[in-house]
Order: sequence, then structure tokens, then C-alpha cells
Amino acid sequence: MDINSLFKEKKAVFSFEIFPPKVTSPIDTIYGTLEALSGLAPDYISITYGAGGAARSSRTLELATLVKRKYGIEPLAHLTAIHSDKNGVLDFLEDMKQNGLNNILALRGDKKEDCALSKDFRYASDLVTFIKQNSSMHISGACYPEGHFESETAERDLQNLKTKVDCGVTHLNTQLFFDNDLFYRFIERARKGGINVPIQAGIMPVINKRQIERMVSLGGVTLPSKFSKLVARYGDDDISMRAAGIAYATDQIINLLTSDVQGIHLYIMNNAGVARQISDNISCIIKGINNRP
Ligand code: FAD
Repeated sequence: MDINSLFKEKKAVFSFEIFPPKVTSPIDTIYGTLEALSGLAPDYISITYGAGGAARSSRTLELATLVKRKYGIEPLAHLTAIHSDKNGVLDFLEDMKQNGLNNILALRGDKKEDCALSKDFRYASDLVTFIKQNSSMHISGACYPEGHFESETAERDLQNLKTKVDCGVTHLNTQLFFDNDLFYRFIERARKGGINVPIQAGIMPVINKRQIERMVSLGGVTLPSKFSKLVARYGDDDISMRAAGIAYATDQIINLLTSDVQGIHLYIMNNAGVARQISDNISCIIKGINNRP
């Protein structure tokens, strides 16, 4: 199944993102999470791709295969290019094919100090072109409502996004954001700029202060005052912060659904309890939207 085709069948697509455990952790730490997520019937589950060479990348494929075979849910396997070469990508594509996987999220990835830069791929669009030339995968890509942090201007970033889409991306997932107005403005600019593929909104329920501190250190994501106040008020109390963070994300999602967003992609940080709470809050609304004639 092609992820893009989900947007033809449904008015609002709902998905989760998980990450494989580190190679030093047992893989079965994720099994319980997957079991719980499968009960929430997402439209697909995306699996990130980390640095760490073949062992870690095989975990992305292992989990994607499990999601597909054991749970009958469509997986979206991520792949980054910045430290990869053509042969490595060909191997990854072949493994995907052997395991019946046909949806890939093609990314540039972030530069790691201790790894040599790829001689074959500079941008995600190079990877997209290569995948198109060498496989029949359906290709998704990443986009940034506030502009990618390395880009000089949001306009330049949008032009680069258009190039990436024109190379063969048929679906986009956004970077997480906390201010829906930024997302709405981005969608307007993207459509005006001729980017017509489905764009899913990436939402991350923030359940502890450490997550925010990490996000702020990475940069590129605006924290609106409503959100900052919430963190200032509840950040030192994990139980309250969790409840407030889930309420904030739910509020964002309902506002997005009310404004006809094409889909919600939930960054759950492998926390099935958070995924369940958000699903409980919004599943009736999504069902209602999708049942509307
Ligand atoms: P690109 O689309 O290549 O863009 C990167 C930068 O280059 C941008 O500033 C862009 O404007 C610029 N650019 C693009 N093309 C050109 C061009 N032709 N000329 C000049 N400039 C250009 N990281 C991981 O390591 N693993 C993951 O699994 C992962 N999953 C992610 C999922 C989502 C939905 C998102 C939003 C991000 C994810 N990331 C992941 C992070 C991502 O790898 C980083 O944000 C990375 O810095 C950019 O990747 P990209 O694919 O968006 O790059």
C-alpha cells in the first residue's frame, strides 16, 4: 500500500512515529510498545533511522517488517543519506523489497562529527532521485513549518522543498510545532508555491521538562507563550506536566482537525501510554470526520 493513497481514502490520516532501541539495548524492549500501538489502529507507523551503522539500520527494517507482518499495519521506514553511499542505499532498498516493504521516508539526516560525509548524497532530494531510479518505493519526505534551521530564509527552504517533491516525494510529514498558526501559514505558502502532495502535521505531546530543554537546544522550534507558561507552571512536577502536555497536544490536534488538516503524525517517543491517551481523546473526532460524506 502506498501511504499517499491513504489520503485519497480518508479525510484525516492518523499515524505514530517510533524509534528503534539502541543497539546496546535488547530489541524486545519495543515489542510491548508495538503491541499496545497496534490496538490503537493507526493508519501507519513510521520507524526512524539513527546513526550507528548497519546494526542500527537493520533494526529500522526489523521493526518495519514486524509492524507489517505481525500487526498488519503499514510501516514507513526512514532512511538518512548524509553518511551513506549508493551501495548502502541499494542494500537497504533490497532488504525492504525482500520484506515486502514499499514506503520509505527519504531524509538527508544531521551531520555527525565523527562520521565522514557522503560522497554520493548532499541533500534529501539526491536520495529521492536515487531511490526513484533504483526502485518502485513510494517516497515520503520531511518538511519544516518554521523553515529548516540551516536555511537562510523560510522562502529558500520552501523552494528546496519544492525541488525535493519534484524529484519524487508524494507525501510530507512536518517537523513538530507548538503554534498551529505557523503550520497554517506554511500550508498556504506551500500550496501557493506549487507543493500539492498531502502534508501531515507532526505533533509531539511533551510530558516532561527535559524534552523541552532538548528541543530548545536543537533550535528551530518556536515555543508560544501559552506553552512556555504551561512548562513554567508544571515543568517541575512530572505528573502535572504529563497531564498538561497531553491536554496541550490534544487541543492542538482538535484545532488542526477543525481546520481540515490532512493528517496527524504523532511523535510518541515510544510511549504507548501517551499514544493511548491522545487516541482516546481524538479517535471519535477522527472517525466522525472520516465517516462524513
Ligand atoms: P533536506 O531536505 O536535504 O534539507 C536540509 C537542508 O538543506 C535544508 O535547509 C534545505 O533548505 C537545504 N537544501 C535542500 N536541498 C537543497 C539544495 N538543492 N540546495 C541548497 N540547499 C538545499 N533524522 C534522522 O537522523 N533519522 C530519522 O529517522 C529522522 N526522521 C525525521 C522525520 C521527520 C518527519 C522530520 C521532520 C525530521 C526527521 N529527521 C530524522 C531529522 C532530519 O534528518 C533533519 O532535520 C535534517 O537536518 C534534514 O533532513 P531533510 O531530509 O529535511 O533534509
